[in-house]
Amino acid sequence: MNIVFPLKDKIPYSQQIVASDKTLMYAFLSADDKWRMLVQPEEINQQLRKAIIYKEDRYFYYHFGVNPIAILRAAFNNTIYQRRTSGASTITMQVARLMYPKKRTYLNKFTEMFRSFQLEWKYSKEEILNLYFNLVPYGGNIEGVKAASLIYFGRKPDKMSLAQIVSLAIIPNRPGTLRPGTNTDELVKARNKWLQKMKVDKLFSDELIDDALNEPIDAKRSELPKFAPHFSLRMHNQYPDMPIVYTNINLHHQQQLNTIAEKYSKRLHGYGIYNASVMILNNRTHTVEAYLGSADFADMLHSGQVDGVVAVRSPGSTLKPLVYSIAFDNGLMTPKSMIADVPVNFDGYAPENYNSKFNGNVTIEYALANSLNIPAVKTLNMVGIRSLTDKMKLAGFGQVLHSEGSIGLSVVLGGCGVKLEEMTTLFSAFANGGKFYRPHFLQSDTLNAPVQLMTPAAAYMTADILSQVNRPELPTDVASSAMHIPKIAWKTGTSYGRRDAWSIGFNSDYTIGVWLGNFSGEGVPELTGAEMATPLLFELFNAIDYNSAKSRIVSPEDLDFRLVCSESGMLPEDNCLNRVIDYYIPQVTSIRRCDHLKKVFINSDSTFSYCTSCLPANGYKTAEYPNLDPDILSYYESEKISYRKIPPHNPKCERVFTEFEPRITSLLNKKEYTVERDEKHPPQLLLAANVSNDVSQVYWYINDRFYKSAMTGEDVFFVPEVGKIKISCSDDKGRNSNIAITVKDF
Ligand SMILES: [Zn+2]
Ligand SMILES: [Zn+2]
Repeated sequence: MNIVFPLKDKIPYSQQIVASDKTLMYAFLSADDKWRMLVQPEEINQQLRKAIIYKEDRYFYYHFGVNPIAILRAAFNNTIYQRRTSGASTITMQVARLMYPKKRTYLNKFTEMFRSFQLEWKYSKEEILNLYFNLVPYGGNIEGVKAASLIYFGRKPDKMSLAQIVSLAIIPNRPGTLRPGTNTDELVKARNKWLQKMKVDKLFSDELIDDALNEPIDAKRSELPKFAPHFSLRMHNQYPDMPIVYTNINLHHQQQLNTIAEKYSKRLHGYGIYNASVMILNNRTHTVEAYLGSADFADMLHSGQVDGVVAVRSPGSTLKPLVYSIAFDNGLMTPKSMIADVPVNFDGYAPENYNSKFNGNVTIEYALANSLNIPAVKTLNMVGIRSLTDKMKLAGFGQVLHSEGSIGLSVVLGGCGVKLEEMTTLFSAFANGGKFYRPHFLQSDTLNAPVQLMTPAAAYMTADILSQVNRPELPTDVASSAMHIPKIAWKTGTSYGRRDAWSIGFNSDYTIGVWLGNFSGEGVPELTGAEMATPLLFELFNAIDYNSAKSRIVSPEDLDFRLVCSESGMLPEDNCLNRVIDYYIPQVTSIRRCDHLKKVFINSDSTFSYCTSCLPANGYKTAEYPNLDPDILSYYESEKISYRKIPPHNPKCERVFTEFEPRITSLLNKKEYTVERDEKHPPQLLLAANVSNDVSQVYWYINDRFYKSAMTGEDVFFVPEVGKIKISCSDDKGRNSNIAITVKDF
């Protein structure tokens, strides 16, 4: 009979978005515009069950859908007293009527009975009772006990008092007059009548019933909770067919976030900063514990409904840590390695620092802690843009996939589009020993195998630098006030035109990403990551994870210490007197020895220097001079910074240094080279040159950047980028030659 008259199974429910503790955070009207919330069996307690069965259908567990005795009694009453009583309807019949609403006629009564048999045949008693709890009408567009208990009493069905339960049980009889908030006296009268009946029948203890009789009714139609509107809408759109979406939101943290961010954001209105977005990720479970699309959902004037967690924005400097961690993993550098913060030019791209100043030689640690731009761009140039975009793709950055071809070196200064969600998840990898996990929104999300974005050592070195407190990323207010600085690692970012302020921080428990700005795209002079976004980040960390001792990030096993020369960050030679402790990754980090000094032959009064061909038999001495990078040299010259210069070369020397410049033999000028590129075997081009016989060492430059030094006759390889490449070879006498080639991918 189910085939001929199929039962309607699909009941349109109001979708409920619930927190990790199953508390309702947000609800959406059902497809037929009802507040009809699917109630979970555990939300129906014994009192509610007993009260409903007692009142509606005492023989519910004994009949097969229809109660013949009740029908006979009703029929008798109807004919003898000419009046209708509803007592004949079993709970099953009521469910049938609620699922297939029809006019009350005798024929329809028979259809209803037929449907009741069908229901009993198909479902268990518990399932039918559950359908009743979900469908029973409470007036207006409220259906089912869950919506009713939440809307009228502001609590879940299993948390209702007996007085509230009995009130709910009687409202469906006369929803018009008994609806809470309309006629309280009437409702109390009707409620107490039923409570007295229950007392006579000993349904509950006398004590319980007496309490209920004295309980005032405090109910009116109230608003449903709206804890995480952007998040809830996102889940609603993503999983439209789930009646209940079980999420990982930690309600306590969500409420803390709502309160703190709302207050903080209001203070920024004075500056013309109207939007704030935050995501809080648990680093151990990878669950999204709190989510703020914007601080004020109701702020129509400033697009408060836009979800800033998934908005595409410029990251400012927030990708720098990833670039340095790649360089650590490539063995190119360590925190104490030196890098020249001096003017550079990459094919017309000449980045500047935030304050337009240059710092000369700085350590990588200093460069990252102070968020210097030039070292970051140079480092990216060293590791290659592709190695950065590959990591970003692994970490789920969506925009990179679409715009990979147009991404240049400026990406590390914010020249790309990222989402707060992507940045927050990326930073949680630093807290997880370099392992990247996708964020888990739903309780049903299972743990996927993580992606190892970087080694634990590289993640730790980066986090260690970002944990330093005395750096410009610390807001000046916090530094001078008594505000507690949480023990976290964090990085700020400020986009071009001051349109975005970022501050993303982590300890081993949590990663919190903060974005501030205007969805309209309007920049604000005061909007910076350090001064605006970081105080909110700190406040949130202090609220959710105050100085927890277990939240410290511990150093991993693949990390070790070594002494390096403080001048270069390389392994010290005998003449390297200042040595410092540095991290390194055994088997990975370069073991080049320091060459910060070089030996030069000079005459006795240090007025000129000799080469091997003009070195006299006696009357000379050797001295050590700083072996400076050509970039640094030209910076010192242009800035008139004094340094120990090698005396000019012996004027009587017969060597003509302008002749016999090196001739590059392995590649031909103005030629096009097609290379085959695959993941495991990057293409390599050979660098070789013929040099004059007084030369012992040559220096190779790619696009005017120092690449490698080599002994004469030593083969050097490099991995070419696609496009025009300038290759230069200098010898140790200062003679130089250049060629230009074009490289194409196969
Ligand atoms: Zn040294
Ligand atoms: Zn000479």
